[in-house]
Amino acid sequence: MPIKSDTPLSVALQLADRGWSVIPLCWPDPDGLCACPRGHIQKNSGKAPLTTHADKDATTDRAVIEGWWAEWPSANVGVALASSGLVAIDCDSLEALQEASGLGLVPTVCRMSHWPAYIYLANDDTPQIRLIHWGKSNKIDLLANGYLVVHGKHQSGREIYLEGDDIALLPQWVSNALHSKVETTVEIPEVPNDAPPVILSAIGGDIWYGRVAVDSEDGRVRAIEQVSTIDRSETLFQLGIKLSKANASYHTIVDALAERDEALGYDKYTDRKDELEYHRIAEKVGQSSYNLTSDIRDHPPEVRLPSFNAGELKRQALSDPSPALTMLPFLGQHESSPFIVGAAHLVSAYPKAGKTELLCRLVSEWCTLGYKVRYFSEESMRFWQARLKLANSEFDDVTIVDALGAGRHLIVADIGRSDSDVIVIDTMKLLMMENENDNGQINMALTPLVAACRASNKTLVIAHHTRKGGGLGGEAAAGGYQFFGGVDVGLELERVGQPTNRRKLHGQGRILDVPELLYERSNDGSFSFLGHSDQLAPQAIATHLAQILTDDFQTTSELRLALTSPRPSADQVSKVLRELAEEKSVERLPPLLEGNKPGVTYKWRRAT
Ligand SMILES: [Zn+2]
Repeated sequence: MPIKSDTPLSVALQLADRGWSVIPLCWPDPDGLCACPRGHIQKNSGKAPLTTHADKDATTDRAVIEGWWAEWPSANVGVALASSGLVAIDCDSLEALQEASGLGLVPTVCRMSHWPAYIYLANDDTPQIRLIHWGKSNKIDLLANGYLVVHGKHQSGREIYLEGDDIALLPQWVSNALHSKVETTVEIPEVPNDAPPVILSAIGGDIWYGRVAVDSEDGRVRAIEQVSTIDRSETLFQLGIKLSKANASYHTIVDALAERDEALGYDKYTDRKDELEYHRIAEKVGQSSYNLTSDIRDHPPEVRLPSFNAGELKRQALSDPSPALTMLPFLGQHESSPFIVGAAHLVSAYPKAGKTELLCRLVSEWCTLGYKVRYFSEESMRFWQARLKLANSEFDDVTIVDALGAGRHLIVADIGRSDSDVIVIDTMKLLMMENENDNGQINMALTPLVAACRASNKTLVIAHHTRKGGGLGGEAAAGGYQFFGGVDVGLELERVGQPTNRRKLHGQGRILDVPELLYERSNDGSFSFLGHSDQLAPQAIATHLAQILTDDFQTTSELRLALTSPRPSADQVSKVLRELAEEKSVERLPPLLEGNKPGVTYKWRRAT
């Protein structure tokens, strides 16, 4: 192989002698910008072809090669893969390299750059295609056509060169991957580098190629020469709409926006924030025109959803002695807990009713039992630190995800990759729905989330704010009915009278009835389970009081303190005692006949 210090012409000729067909490519200046006469955009600097038909012009003809490099002595050297009988494994990240190494990378000729590309000899029947973003990592590029930059300068200033002399045969796993791609998908015709991924309308094409843009002065689309300042966000948004109308899928839109944003130079410095913007735009434009046909087209024909025979399921369930449903404890209670392992729960509550405090307490309880929790929060880590400082329990298996602005696609992707047992979404607002009253939108936001959790038996808990007024039949959850329809267990968290730190959790389950549960949160941050709320009905209080009243007089608060959990409020106890006195089963001091005596401490005993 040529060596690093060889001139581009010498390298090109040596490769041609080996039968590799070469082409001249753009070369970068010291700032990484295009230094060739073609004036390429930054993204293509150092790699765009200098001939008209790219790899189709590649040759082994010495005279042609000498002519090219006489004209452009500094041109980078490219090798056409298909016509040279080569396949390259391009790993441009550590993840890609690790995965490819794991699959097996026989020593061979390597193209050295920031990341290496492994070059192998194609077999006679190797399909001349490319698999971009292949593998579990979604990062490996398998290239059996197009061209590879093999020598010269990268736009980062780094040297690009070949290393190694003996070229090896294509590893079997690469061959398999390329073959299976051909078998399972319809060939998509090659498109030139710059073309949109879908067929755009005329105006869409004009935005795509940067011929028109949105003017930030008045928000109008006009010819680029007449635009005073480009409104980058709005221009990308308009492009997103055109892509969506042309049936581009969500991921196609995100990729296309990122590519165009850079190619058109709206913002050369793409960072994480900008990537999120592409997702936001794709999400927004996708909501109005979600496209089913593109879903069918984008998946190989053998895709079938998991399906089960119901009779078989029943037999399995009957032969399994363990209960069909496993509960996650609720403040130490297993039996009356409304939280089911593997189910989707919605907890709606008034703002500031303490749902995050309750969830925080519950996830800590669950993680002490060995469940791993992933908690998607809209609050900053500063608030979390303040909250955790107050909580007197362990949180080592709880991961807090700062998910504000991430959007539901990123959240679902994150869940799919996580190995957590419990997923908390606090709150529903993180799913970024435009209209919470639109059942169609709710369904689209909720269903992928529920499905992502169900696939790996993750327990899902979504917190949601409550509409004023509340209600028993799920009416309390703000927004459309689909919020409750889309989950297995719908819960509502309410304040209940006195004392002010008492809360009631109630709701409906798909299979189990959810009892009304009462709990209190003390000032020191600890929670105590009080019991079922029917234990606080007047009749239940009267029954308990009957067991405590004696022949001696006791004050109202002495009697109240003698009651066990759930302890009724002082008001409730007074009210029940007064009713008992009216029925003459209880005596009051001073006597009831004397009427109300404000300021006097009432005492009570069993009627004699
Ligand atoms: Zn150039």
